Amino acid sequence: MEMFGQNVFNQTVMRERLPKAVFKTLKKTIDEGLPLDPSIADVVATAMKEWAVERGATHFTHWFQPMTGITAEKHDSFLSPSEGGALMEFSGKELVKGEPDASSFPSGGLRATFEARGYTAWDCTSPAFLREEAGVVTLCIPTAFCSYTGEVLDKKTPLLRSMEALSTQALRVLRLFGNTTATRVISTVGAEQEYFLVDKAFYDKRPDLMMAGRTLFGAMSSKGQELEDHYFGTIKERVLAYMKEVNEELWKLGVTAKTQHNEVAPGQFEIAPIFENTNIATDHNQMVMETLKKVATRHGLVCLLHEKPFAGVNGSGKHNNWSMSSNDGQNLLEPGHTPHDNAQFLTFLMATIKAVDTYAGLLRATCASAGNDHRLGANEAPPAIMSIFLGDQLSDILDQIVAGDEKSSTKAGEMKIGVSTLPALPMDATDRNRTSPFAFTGNKFELRMLGSSFSISGPNIVINTIIADVLQEFADRLEKATDCDAELEKLLQETAKKHQRVVFNGNNYSDEWVQEAKKRGLLNIPNTPEAQKQLITKEAVAVFAKHKVFSEKEIHARYEIVIEQYVKTLNIEALTMIDMANHSIIPAAMEYATTVASSINAVTAVSAKLNVSAQKELLEELCDKLAAVSAETKNLEKELEATLAIADLDEQAAAFRAKVFTKMDDLRANADALEKIIAAKYWPLPTYREMLFQL
Ligand code: ADP
Ligand code: MG
Repeated sequence: MEMFGQNVFNQTVMRERLPKAVFKTLKKTIDEGLPLDPSIADVVATAMKEWAVERGATHFTHWFQPMTGITAEKHDSFLSPSEGGALMEFSGKELVKGEPDASSFPSGGLRATFEARGYTAWDCTSPAFLREEAGVVTLCIPTAFCSYTGEVLDKKTPLLRSMEALSTQALRVLRLFGNTTATRVISTVGAEQEYFLVDKAFYDKRPDLMMAGRTLFGAMSSKGQELEDHYFGTIKERVLAYMKEVNEELWKLGVTAKTQHNEVAPGQFEIAPIFENTNIATDHNQMVMETLKKVATRHGLVCLLHEKPFAGVNGSGKHNNWSMSSNDGQNLLEPGHTPHDNAQFLTFLMATIKAVDTYAGLLRATCASAGNDHRLGANEAPPAIMSIFLGDQLSDILDQIVAGDEKSSTKAGEMKIGVSTLPALPMDATDRNRTSPFAFTGNKFELRMLGSSFSISGPNIVINTIIADVLQEFADRLEKATDCDAELEKLLQETAKKHQRVVFNGNNYSDEWVQEAKKRGLLNIPNTPEAQKQLITKEAVAVFAKHKVFSEKEIHARYEIVIEQYVKTLNIEALTMIDMANHSIIPAAMEYATTVASSINAVTAVSAKLNVSAQKELLEELCDKLAAVSAETKNLEKELEATLAIADLDEQAAAFRAKVFTKMDDLRANADALEKIIAAKYWPLPTYREMLFQL
């Protein structure tokens, strides 16, 4: 308890250290999203600095989240010269605004390099914190990051905008249900994080893990995850010691690391915090990822956050548990106890269903990346088809709403307020389904499509925005109605009828679902270059612009950035494969072939009658596979060269997927076959057995 939040400049610390009036003003900004009063900045900055310096801080940094998906920082010391000596100073101006050079961050053409300046702006709604590294203590100030001309260059600004949009529209709907107390609705998120651990000694010998974060070669070990003995298994001591330190670091940072367990694949684990405000949850998930990596090195381990570090066993994802709650304490996705609550719940539920069905493509896009292509729509969970799991009981209620009053009218007598024909809700209707990409789990939705290395910002920007959009439409219609109850009833029925198609409670991994989804007209987008196009459809551009989350220019810039990232990732992977084939795999196979050949010569020199058929057979097989690897390496080189010559970015991305990626697969298949017949001491790379099982 003492440790928790000890490195955070949180509201308790602020209450202690700030003058009452200043604290009150700041708290209002934080809780109600009001604009920051600039006159308090100096006072807050001084208090923050004193608190930080008492704890050994010498530097501060504006901590921001550029489009790289990770965080960035530039450190400044508090030191300022003073009459031959020095003072520790930190002004309100320095707290509120920073000017890092923005020219080396991805901007999708929004910021020409001659306008290199970018601004960082203090986000006072996410608390500042201290980080200790190698004895240096730094005050980190969460900030938003934008270009000189005001366009967003980061993942925080649009998230805050989307939360604002959701709050505005959700409040309108709450008012229609007679709520006069709530002044703000926030979206909440709990992000479950999966990761792999490997011994650093093995990692250091794998250029692919170092360059690409995943193994580009590697024959499967004799055992994988088929015995299901790792999931929830006893955690090994070394890993437990690691987890203990991760938890302690996170607790100090105010991150509520709560659960931890072994995951499905050998060497795979999960950590989950308790849910919180989406903006803070996003910052905290970045800290979780950074901490997982940092602490691993202290234990001689490396933490892999790639979506698919090893072929043949499960990859890693992130489960984004999402809901919305009002600041008068209601979870808006919590089924109600009274018919009135019940109607309100069904309204928010139906808005979510409609939003997900209408903007399924956007959600798909926001979960697409080169790494996640190995999961979504490949041979593992979850599928690329967007659908919603509601569970049998809620689905039945949806059916009843669609059917209209006949069936449920029998219960009308019980209902005094709200919509008289709505069926009663079962309490605790939480059946489990592990295969759905978007599952209702009792009082929240769980989006399971995110990749493990993602910032959770992108998907939450989309969820917030699209639900805000539907809530706006609902509110517009209901506010105009003379009989609100009757109108709501009609609205819910219409919506249920139209969007029920997105609900699916069965096995999402089955082939039947792929067929069924096609019949229902649901999107099934197989890969990243295709999926990202959904970001810039007319509808997507319109919905972002309408809610002031992205301007048209900003969303096009984002599209360009993600496509560039895809192309660069595949280019690095292909180059790494070529390098590994030429510099270690082919030479190793030659060396071993020479040894086998020498053995044949040596043995026959003793006596021509000795049986060397095994050696000969092996040599033949070796030479064949070696030739195949060599040929496939050349094929990949050629394909890569041709693809890199394509000028149009979209075409190039498509070629990377269709051609380079295929050639990479071919090369790998041959190299993995070679690995299986080469003597262990000749194979230059740590094997799957070592990496997955020797922790
Ligand atoms: P499971 O492994 O069954 O999916 P966990 O208990 O590991 O479930 O994770 C559930 C996550 O959902 C936790 O991070 C939890 O804090 C979060 N959660 C619970 N309630 C809400 C809510 N109202 N909004 C957002 N997230 C929530
Ligand atoms: Mg989960």
